[in-house]
Amino acid sequence: MAKEIVQPRIRGFIATNAHPEGCRARVLSQIETTRELGVEDTGGNVLVVGASTGYGLASRIVAAFGRGAKTLGCFYERPAGGKRTATAGYYNAVAFHEAAAEAGVGAWSLNGDAFSDELKAQTVATLREHMGPVDTLIYSLASPRRTHPKTGVTHQSTLKPTGDPFTGKTINLNTGAVESVTIESASGVEVADTIQVMGGEDFALWVSLLLEEGLLAEGATAVAYSYIGPDVTHGIYRSGTIGMAKLHLEETTPHLSQRMASAVGGRAYVSVNKGVITPASAAIPVVPLYMSMLYPVMRAAGTHEAPIDQMNRLFREHLGGTPVTDEAGRIRLDDREMTDEIQGEIARRWAAVDTDNLAEHADFRGYQSEFRQLFGFEVEGLDYGQPVEIERALPS
Ligand code: NAD
Repeated sequence: MAKEIVQPRIRGFIATNAHPEGCRARVLSQIETTRELGVEDTGGNVLVVGASTGYGLASRIVAAFGRGAKTLGCFYERPAGGKRTATAGYYNAVAFHEAAAEAGVGAWSLNGDAFSDELKAQTVATLREHMGPVDTLIYSLASPRRTHPKTGVTHQSTLKPTGDPFTGKTINLNTGAVESVTIESASGVEVADTIQVMGGEDFALWVSLLLEEGLLAEGATAVAYSYIGPDVTHGIYRSGTIGMAKLHLEETTPHLSQRMASAVGGRAYVSVNKGVITPASAAIPVVPLYMSMLYPVMRAAGTHEAPIDQMNRLFREHLGGTPVTDEAGRIRLDDREMTDEIQGEIARRWAAVDTDNLAEHADFRGYQSEFRQLFGFEVEGLDYGQPVEIERALPS
């Protein structure tokens, strides 16, 4: 056992460590938010792929604490070793398990590569032993790479435009300067690799596996998450390599839905979620400047939502009955982000923003603080001067 005082170690813009108590406090706060919205004790079995941070963690919390469902969460996180802390997602998962045990809701976790056949086989074994067929599959992976289970080739995703080179405003996350960035277009191979990582193939493999193993319950729902975003990030996001991968996911999903409908009377959906601050979105050029604007603009309009608010909306307003979808069959949790009012205000601020007037148009300090909170730092009410146990065990 190792007690340490844990202070943030920031490299570039990423924290390379995490605070276990800060992560725990944030998980508990999401559980509290969910309970305040009421518990509809419908139970059931929910499998969340990518369950330790961001949208997947929020989905798991709503399933367990808003619905009383048993959950199996898969994720890829590093435990503590020596003086090195675990990753935030690891501590989040530990905190989730503690709370689930206290509340008496069943929870199982698998820490490993969800793209691999091994982890998929472990999932099947765990479902058989402890849970039975799942009524909801949530697919919430965000990964920079994927080793293909059949070929063994490791594909790396890139974040580049696909047509002309992209030039746009961005924020330097180290200095807070607003700069112009030009990013050259991706090669065909880079587009194909990004689709391999973040496209629909792995979601399809998960659905196929559960169908083949008889582990999708009658009327089951499968949901994968996507993003569209505003005009200002269009060139780098939606029409970029990552957007091509999301398009592939969105084109794959109706086929999966058909298969699920004929096999178990189920459906598959893509849910287009709103932009939120996560390590995954911080890695995309231009997006952090947009997020630094989006949060204050949506707060001022009274429509700001964190991942837990979005996932409460998904489970309560859509997955409880028949989901409301757009003309392409997608659930649109980004509806409040994409209103003319919000996007008009963003466009106005975007045209005007520079390094000197940044604070007037965007909340970069707020962005940085939210970002550190993802790693358990700058969480209100915690005494960061106290040593804490950094080695924590996930239930085996
Ligand atoms: P995140 O980085 O917070 O979470 C990713 C999860 O995937 C973590 O639990 C991580 O452990 C897991 N993971 C990564 N690689 C893995 C692997 N090989 N095996 C097992 N688990 C693995 O990401 P997020 O921002 O919550 O994104 C989740 C999904 O939501 C993505 O599809 C993303 O595109 C989508 N989305 C994100 C945003 C946003 O603004 N962040 C907006 C809309 C949609």
